[in-house]
Amino acid sequence: MTLTANNELSRVHAASPVLKSGPQQAANPAYCGAAMQTRTCCPACLSVPLTEVYREPYTSDGIQNYLKTQYEGNASSTADDCLYVLSRCQRCGLSFQKYIPGDPFLGEIYNSWVPGTDFEREHRNYSLEEYRYLAEQVQFVIQHLGRPPAAVRMLDFGFGWAHWSRMAMAYGCRVSGVELSQERSAHGQSVGIELLTLEDLPDQAFHFIHTEQVFEHLTEPRAVLDRLVAALAPGGLIKISVPDAVTSLKKIEGGQSFGSLSANDKMPIAPLEHINAFSHASLVAFGKAAGLRPVRPSFYRLYNSASGLLQLKNLARVLARPVYRHVFPRNTFVYFERAPQ
Ligand SMILES: [Zn+2]
Repeated sequence: MTLTANNELSRVHAASPVLKSGPQQAANPAYCGAAMQTRTCCPACLSVPLTEVYREPYTSDGIQNYLKTQYEGNASSTADDCLYVLSRCQRCGLSFQKYIPGDPFLGEIYNSWVPGTDFEREHRNYSLEEYRYLAEQVQFVIQHLGRPPAAVRMLDFGFGWAHWSRMAMAYGCRVSGVELSQERSAHGQSVGIELLTLEDLPDQAFHFIHTEQVFEHLTEPRAVLDRLVAALAPGGLIKISVPDAVTSLKKIEGGQSFGSLSANDKMPIAPLEHINAFSHASLVAFGKAAGLRPVRPSFYRLYNSASGLLQLKNLARVLARPVYRHVFPRNTFVYFERAPQ
């Protein structure tokens, strides 16, 4: 998937202010205004010892220029009395923004700052390669589960404009979904998704849960993951795919300012939105902390689901892609399994 498409997806998957401020937040220091809240422990493993790895005022030229460009002039000055601070958990290694928007400010960002997306525009931009990639993922999951498609129940958490869900339904699976936007929810319902909310997810109901560009946005990612794990059937799979922040973090900790980073390197640590900055290692630790086990898909299944018929002329492409995407690089697209009972 192209970076542009990823950016689009990250925009349509709004952050989830699902869980109200809990014990993870404390009173703000003087330099962080009322619109923001302070994280005092790791949002993934809930451990307290943290190391600050970067800080820059929101009023710096670099961040102001970024906000102006990213939000097409819609950004207000709400964050200007705060600092952009990246902290790292000493236990699980997750890097994350220490000062994050509170619920009203999140509403402002996702309703007023983020430029609107519409189905037609996203639909037009979807390439054959992207549909093929969705199909491969759906086939892989069904094969891994070893159930007939009609007996596979899936949850698309933050389904956006339902591209993944529609592919899963085309393969005969039953798909439920959670989505905050009313417009996208209505679209999802119109194409056959059963609408649910995080609060009313049935226990142990889903064989597969799909999350794409969601967890980097969440105020309390661990609480959300725990809820999703409870909704997963024993032996079920959950996909967590997030931006890989390793290169961005390396550069910013190596002395570069946020403003000097390329657009590609800004994206995984985007102020106010990508508040959890995962690496492969911290993503795996995140899943394990919630009782999950990372799955390394077998080559046989990958080739089978990637290719159908292995034609010689396509062999190099077919062999390279699943290895690249699923197995070899230590990337931030991981399937996790809930232990069978
Ligand atoms: Zn941690």
